Amino acid sequence: PKTMAHPAEPHVMATYGRLPIALSHGRGCRVWDTEGREYLDALAGIAVNTLGHGHPRLVPALQDQLAKLIHSSNYYMAPLQEKLASKLCEISGLANVFFCNSGLEANEGALKIARKYGHDRGIDKPEIIVYEKAFHGRSIATLSATGNPKVQAGFGPLDEGFVRVPLNDIAAVEEAARTRPNVVAVFLEVIQGEGGINASRADYLRALRKLCDDKQWLLMLDEVQCGIGRTGKWFAHQWAGIQPDVMPLAKGLGSGVPVGAIVCGPKAANVLGAGNHGTTFGGNPLAMRAGIETLRIMEEDGLLANAASVGAHLRAGLERELDGVKGIVEYRGQGLMIGIELDRPCGDLLKQACDAGLLISVTADRVVRLLPPLIMTTAEADKVVAILAPLIKKFLS
Ligand code: PLP
Repeated sequence: PKTMAHPAEPHVMATYGRLPIALSHGRGCRVWDTEGREYLDALAGIAVNTLGHGHPRLVPALQDQLAKLIHSSNYYMAPLQEKLASKLCEISGLANVFFCNSGLEANEGALKIARKYGHDRGIDKPEIIVYEKAFHGRSIATLSATGNPKVQAGFGPLDEGFVRVPLNDIAAVEEAARTRPNVVAVFLEVIQGEGGINASRADYLRALRKLCDDKQWLLMLDEVQCGIGRTGKWFAHQWAGIQPDVMPLAKGLGSGVPVGAIVCGPKAANVLGAGNHGTTFGGNPLAMRAGIETLRIMEEDGLLANAASVGAHLRAGLERELDGVKGIVEYRGQGLMIGIELDRPCGDLLKQACDAGLLISVTADRVVRLLPPLIMTTAEADKVVAILAPLIKKFLS
């Protein structure tokens, strides 16, 4: 069904079904709408506002950068790019970075790297292994890699060169290794976000790493949603003790300022050369400063440990309050990336939570998803539980 334009926004293309509130300002994990109503933010703009809202050290840094230089173009040396890139390499153990502006752009670039890597090795029609229920973005190539027929519908012809497998099924990838000589890369989210908070198992990731090494494939891990501290480590794959060859990032990296990045290990770091890829806005000084300050504040304030402990506290609180409630299928996720699968579609909970002063999300029809700012306190997590658990209980009764 077509979405009708909202009567208050007749000139905005109606691609979103919006809730009927407009947020105006925020502080920490609290935001207020234009009517002055207060909300507790357990969504962080879909895993974006790492440091919450109006952070007292991020805001002055951004103001300083705004006054100095917003944009300079990639015609010139970019010391702030080098600074953020070296930090990303330090925390990931990888080798270099290309900067862009969003998740889909980072993934699009990763797909180009995989194809060029194939061509460099004499494979004219390279193929990339992708996953059921994956979400990688809305451009034609990233939509083609996405594993959701609903968001793909109406946009064919989609790109060729993808081989789709189910998650956590190493036999399916081994089968592709046997039967598809043109495969050059495996591309997956470490924890599928839009697909319903579905985690790749650690042993599966390790098996993929080994297979990629044996076959000389690139292991490309989309950490756009699960990266930047959300699970309690810098990157979700670090729980499995492996390293990717290519890691697209975005969302939380700029704590609200658009920043995308493709972080590459040695196997992928020199695939693209002068003239192979580019973007006007990518790596601009404002975005770089946002990334630098976000990572600095995360480190100074121990936000990885906070994400792990407050995430565990939040999940334990929900499990305690919802203990024995019929209709809860499973709790999933790690750190401050939490999914609660219900036995029925639960989109209505979005509006109900909003009315109760709590911002959350529902994804994959039946999964309540929490992605709070990484600065959330245990007291705020308790408040999330106090609002959300009764709503879910009532919804399922
Ligand atoms: N990759 C993942 C894992 C995502 O969750 C998303 C967005 O939800 C994207 C890519 C696309 O990012 P963007 O909306 O910035 O293009």
